[in-house]
Amino acid sequence: MIGHFPDPYPDELFYSICSRFSALMGFPSFKATLCELGMSKYASAGVALPQNLDALVAQLPPGHAYSSDLFIDKHTMLPLFAPFFTEEQYVQVRTAMNGNSVGSIHRATVSICHHLYSGSAGVMRFCPGCVANDREIHGEAYWHRVHQICGMDLCLVHRCHLEQARIHLAPCADMFKTAESCIERLEARRIDERNPIHKISLGVANDIAWLFDQTDLPHRPDLIARGYIDLLYERAYYKRFKRAGGFVEKTRRALLSELDGGGDGLVRLSPKFHPLEELWFIRLAGHTAESFFGGIASRATDSQDSVR
Ligand SMILES: [Zn+2]
Repeated sequence: MIGHFPDPYPDELFYSICSRFSALMGFPSFKATLCELGMSKYASAGVALPQNLDALVAQLPPGHAYSSDLFIDKHTMLPLFAPFFTEEQYVQVRTAMNGNSVGSIHRATVSICHHLYSGSAGVMRFCPGCVANDREIHGEAYWHRVHQICGMDLCLVHRCHLEQARIHLAPCADMFKTAESCIERLEARRIDERNPIHKISLGVANDIAWLFDQTDLPHRPDLIARGYIDLLYERAYYKRFKRAGGFVEKTRRALLSELDGGGDGLVRLSPKFHPLEELWFIRLAGHTAESFFGGIASRATDSQDSVR
């Protein structure tokens, strides 16, 4: 059992909590920290989907208020993927994150997830405004979950671009580095709110924040696909695309380029699933994540009722 574990900050990435623990205790290596936390030295403390969380919770000091489920829902990327997974995929990934079954997250899922966070390119990101706020409120900066999504370059709160920190991680994380040890510049670069791509990005950032707060969306990718077909037939969508087809195409290309960090790997990414692409599609069709997934939830309820 460990004598102390840092209280997580709001929207703090699980990796960030472990990094602060490692720095606080002065552990010399990544594996030494994992062992102290009761986690297998072969476990991944991955930036997106960490594993072995039950073992960590069993090591926490008496009286703690944490659970594996809390860490997963509030401090990992799983909620962003959840509505796009089948029930079977979701249970499989969640079980692997809770348990001691290192490597049991489905290979395809891991392959997808590696593209989710900017750490896939060895990069962690931060918002200068959030860093200033965090230092004022908490006395230190930390890695925000919402800032580590590959393709999302904006902070919704401060309406500025995210900055890259001095850190290079393997996709599954092979070292613990606190935000405080990696952040240099603090000048915020404001976004151009008249720029239509920035405007849509702010909408998608809102959708991401909304998805992170959801815990009971249905796992019905089949209904999501049908929802897209409906969008295609919606009059507003049709009109929007007829009137602004050029803009939509330009925006989509900008997104794909952003997702890939330059565009030359667009072919590599194209067969992969990425929640951000789905959210952009929904936004371009004139919906929000809340309105779109609200419809999916109703359909899921209807289809269950018709089965009974
Ligand atoms: Zn911010």
